[in-house]
Amino acid sequence: MSDCIFCQIINKVIPAEFVYEDDDMVAFLDVNPVHPGHALVMPKQHVEKFVDVSPENCKAIAGVIQKIMKSLTGDLGYDGVNLIQNNGAAAGQIVPHLHFHVIPRKSGDGFAHWHGQGYANGEAALWAAKMRAALETTDAA
Ligand code: AMP
Ligand code: ZN
Repeated sequence: MSDCIFCQIINKVIPAEFVYEDDDMVAFLDVNPVHPGHALVMPKQHVEKFVDVSPENCKAIAGVIQKIMKSLTGDLGYDGVNLIQNNGAAAGQIVPHLHFHVIPRKSGDGFAHWHGQGYANGEAALWAAKMRAALETTDAA
């Protein structure tokens, strides 16, 4: 996809600070990090959403994420990591090339969790039943 900014980075048309690359995956630093080392992990193949990724790339991306996470809380000394994937514009996805944010965290750094809304009485059980039914007919990579 020639007009995709992440494809342009993957193809070395525009620069980025790469931290990992293999035949199918890359990871580079987010230009606007929560903390230094905040990385974006993605398949080289242009797919927009997680539901679009192939079974092979689905497994491969998990391995790269885990490796980067381990380095952040290992040698690089961070206290925790958030793994975030904004999937679709409604969920805040700005760049339409599938990517996972691997975000290093420090104890007490003050970045807030989102605010949950709770469930009305009985609503959680209804939703769990609806989801179990939906999952019966949903396949995955
Ligand atoms: P989102 O699609 O909501 O996950 O957000 C896209 C992320 O990509 C943001 O955190 C941006 O800071 C980051 N980003 C956008 N352009 C670049 C770039 N050229 N190099 C590195 N990170 C980028
Ligand atoms: Zn792309």
